[in-house]
Amino acid sequence: MKLFFLCFFIQFFFSSPGSITQNLRDGYAEMAEADTSLGILILVNKHHKLAEGYRPHDLVPVDDRYNRGIMNLLRSEAAAAFAQMCSTAEKDSIILWNHSAYRSDTVQRQLYENAVERRGVQRADRFSARPGHSEHQTGLTVDLNSTHTSFGKTPEAAWLRQHAHLFGFIERYPRHQEDITGYEYEPWHYRYVGIEAATYIYNNKLTLEEYHGTSQKQTRHPAR
Ligand SMILES: [Zn+2]
Repeated sequence: MKLFFLCFFIQFFFSSPGSITQNLRDGYAEMAEADTSLGILILVNKHHKLAEGYRPHDLVPVDDRYNRGIMNLLRSEAAAAFAQMCSTAEKDSIILWNHSAYRSDTVQRQLYENAVERRGVQRADRFSARPGHSEHQTGLTVDLNSTHTSFGKTPEAAWLRQHAHLFGFIERYPRHQEDITGYEYEPWHYRYVGIEAATYIYNNKLTLEEYHGTSQKQTRHPAR
């Protein structure tokens, strides 16, 4: 904990203004409350924070057949879509399962603080969200199978990249998009946004930030 605060203050006082994209990747500048009225399209990232203690009202356990995780809750619509996706994948001999889904901000705090203790603030912020900033708290996010970067090279990851949008899921932290999303490549982390938005995002190769028009990198034209 001591180390965490020391690193935080060093970073706070000695960081130069830098570019906004730098802030999105490394810091938590320009904070706003996440807009829960967006429903399944909610944006949660380093700039958009959920209210303390936020917990979706309709969390349900994911289908047992597709679960190997302790944290097995998703919002009901996402859980149904997840089961459908896993069942369809199975027909293609692709075995998918939940590794970790909903997390409370208390659990997230623990994970983040552990990450900071192990790797320091700057490094931890590239792969671990601070409490209130994790998409896992929305109940719309699922880590599938393995949380190692090598998962990206498996047939399961290839299948997901090709088909997840058909079930309403998007690959949330694609490779080389850290400046936009704020996080390193996570081929296992999928976010439910519904079929319509997921298909749009997939077809236009967008991130959720760009879809919402909040990206600092204005090279693409999001729908809204
Ligand atoms: Zn995740």
